[in-house]
Amino acid sequence: MKLIIENEWPENRNQTTQPRNDNICGHCGSMLQNGEKYCRCCGTRRGVGVYVPEPVDPWDIECIYAPPIKRTHKCTACAYQWDSFEMRNTNKYCPRCGASAETIYDDYRDRIRKFNNR
Ligand SMILES: [Zn+2]
Ligand SMILES: [Zn+2]
Repeated sequence: MKLIIENEWPENRNQTTQPRNDNICGHCGSMLQNGEKYCRCCGTRRGVGVYVPEPVDPWDIECIYAPPIKRTHKCTACAYQWDSFEMRNTNKYCPRCGASAETIYDDYRDRIRKFNNR
């Protein structure tokens, strides 16, 4: 009988040799860009918490077929501005200081406006 020490399982070995992915928000699992200190989506500080993905219900998956929408966001506190290209607007917090952010340009709204003005 071979005694297997927990750390000898191949999965565990991978976990210890690979650096922890700290480009993922510990609260909501959103991607963090290099140099960003706060999650744009929920405002959680980088490195706080450990994100555990919830099991996905296959009936709950939403399929959206559309190109990403360009939006420009601005921090209400430090005035930092950045662009995002996403389907849904998940940018609610400043990645630099964690304060709330506002969307100052939304290509989708602009497209609808142009459509309505025809
Ligand atoms: Zn987050
Ligand atoms: Zn800010």
